[in-house]
Amino acid sequence: MKIEILSDEMASRIAAGEVVERPASVVKELIENSLDAGASEISVWVEGSGSAVIRVTDDGEGMTAEDLDLAVERHATSKLKEDADLFRIATLGFRGEALPSIGSVSRMEVLSRPPGAASGYRLRLEGGKKHEISPSAAAIGTTIEINDIFFNTPARRKFLKSPATELSHICDVVNRMALAFPSVHFRLQHDGRNIADYVAVNDPKDRLQQVLGRDVAGGLVLFRRGSGDVTVRGYLSAAPTSFPNARHVYTFVNRRYVRDKILTHAVLFGYESLLMKGQYPAVVLFLEIPFGEVDVNVHPAKYEVRFRRQSDVHDAVSRALRQALRIEAKEPSPSVATTWPATLHAVRETPLPYSGPGLANLSESRLLREAFPMPERPDSLTPGFFSSMQVLGQILGCYIVCVSPSGLTLIDQHAAHERVAFEKLRRQLNDGRVERQALLIPQSVELSAGEMMLLAQNLDVMESFGFSLEPFGPGSYAIRAVPALLPEGDYAQIVRQMVAELAEVDTSSKLRQHLEDRLATIACHSVIRAHRKLEPHEMRALLEALDQIDFATQCPHGRPVLIEWSQTELDRLFKRIV
Ligand code: ADP
Ligand code: MG
Repeated sequence: MKIEILSDEMASRIAAGEVVERPASVVKELIENSLDAGASEISVWVEGSGSAVIRVTDDGEGMTAEDLDLAVERHATSKLKEDADLFRIATLGFRGEALPSIGSVSRMEVLSRPPGAASGYRLRLEGGKKHEISPSAAAIGTTIEINDIFFNTPARRKFLKSPATELSHICDVVNRMALAFPSVHFRLQHDGRNIADYVAVNDPKDRLQQVLGRDVAGGLVLFRRGSGDVTVRGYLSAAPTSFPNARHVYTFVNRRYVRDKILTHAVLFGYESLLMKGQYPAVVLFLEIPFGEVDVNVHPAKYEVRFRRQSDVHDAVSRALRQALRIEAKEPSPSVATTWPATLHAVRETPLPYSGPGLANLSESRLLREAFPMPERPDSLTPGFFSSMQVLGQILGCYIVCVSPSGLTLIDQHAAHERVAFEKLRRQLNDGRVERQALLIPQSVELSAGEMMLLAQNLDVMESFGFSLEPFGPGSYAIRAVPALLPEGDYAQIVRQMVAELAEVDTSSKLRQHLEDRLATIACHSVIRAHRKLEPHEMRALLEALDQIDFATQCPHGRPVLIEWSQTELDRLFKRIV
């Protein structure tokens, strides 16, 4: 016989591997328990970046001696009463695994006293072995102390990163929890030093300031969309403010912090073509959705979730952001301007009149149309911001110098053309009628076997963009028509580039983003390159075209279209004012 059933101890230790990856996971589980216990104040004390001591104290509902005894058993929870509860989980915990898992890989002490009780009780565990429960003086609430994490699993201990890294993970955990629960007081101390002390606040925006700091938080704008039982709300940075990584993208589902691919993708999709490649926004997103619509039981540490209606959620989120960004591009909040004052290097967003169709019909689901109605569009065009400017001329072959009512404006003609071409194409694509030009003499494009296959599978996608292609002997295609927007030239190159990019579309959820990327590629090829002299009427036409589109302040790759200096900024540059 080669098969044996694992001892309970061994089984717990294996299970612990999934739940307790590092000290920060312990902090996360303990804070979740405190929040589930209704705490209004949670203090986290760590020593040696959590590898020596982690102590979490709360003023929640506490546990009786009997509960204490059960709490550290595997699969023991007070949070699921009947089978159906598993499909409508409203608490942060539910697996009944955290305490036994943590207890099996550390020395743990739990001290707890419920509000009505005369005294508290204390329970000690060592590597999962329970000691006697004994009465003990205690404040109301619960304190759980973890010593020497992974003392009995040295392999695990070796995997710990530098103390600074482990500590930063702990800070992240506290910060995320704090963002979702502004009315709870959070404290984090490390080796006796205060790292965070977030007193309870009524306005979530105040918690944002505590956690993200004044600089980042000050520039965030509130957004909120939804009706019925799905709400998307939170705070976002308006383009072109951006960060080099996704560190400031926080997503929560029913107040649970998650790292969900769909949500992150939806957030970035909302910013599509507004930020430069490799740049990320700051977004704190709270999705509220009926408990039955989301399965939180798909990941041991509960970092991932599964949505019943994945694409509806994706649409709801990206649309909510897009909508907020559209409003911001039209009418930047004063907070944006004051926190990111325009400097020589920063771009200030300029109020833009709203016109033209937007993303409205890329993919409209019924749920969304009901839950997230688009606002009414104004009937008459407001006099255009761009066309109202006085053009002084073109400099350096690529910038248009203009006088605007508030000061001096420089426009990058290439970025402007690209954005105009992009929006025009997007409109045509949305309407399903991309204007095309037939080629009198078809051009041929030679492709590798892999590229041939990709193209063969995506002929309809290419067709929808205005490219008509036909097989033309082995290893090549004939280009019979191209988008009308493209200037005369060698089309094989753009077809080859698009085919290469088709390889990146693997899931349908990426398809729409993919389409937009392709639009940007075509737009880029369609544009008059820099260093071309523009006639006055061409410059005027460009400004007028900018007035007809949304998001005119950034090119489709996220580069700014214009930079503006107000009188105050100019006065400051010339030291007339300080
Ligand atoms: P889960 O949170 O999934 O139920 P845990 O192992 O984290 O599982 O905790 C087991 C049980 O112990 C919880 O269901 C809860 O009843 C109790 N418990 C744990 N921590 C606390 C706390 N800080 N205050 C009150 N009760 C707690
Ligand atoms: Mg728990």
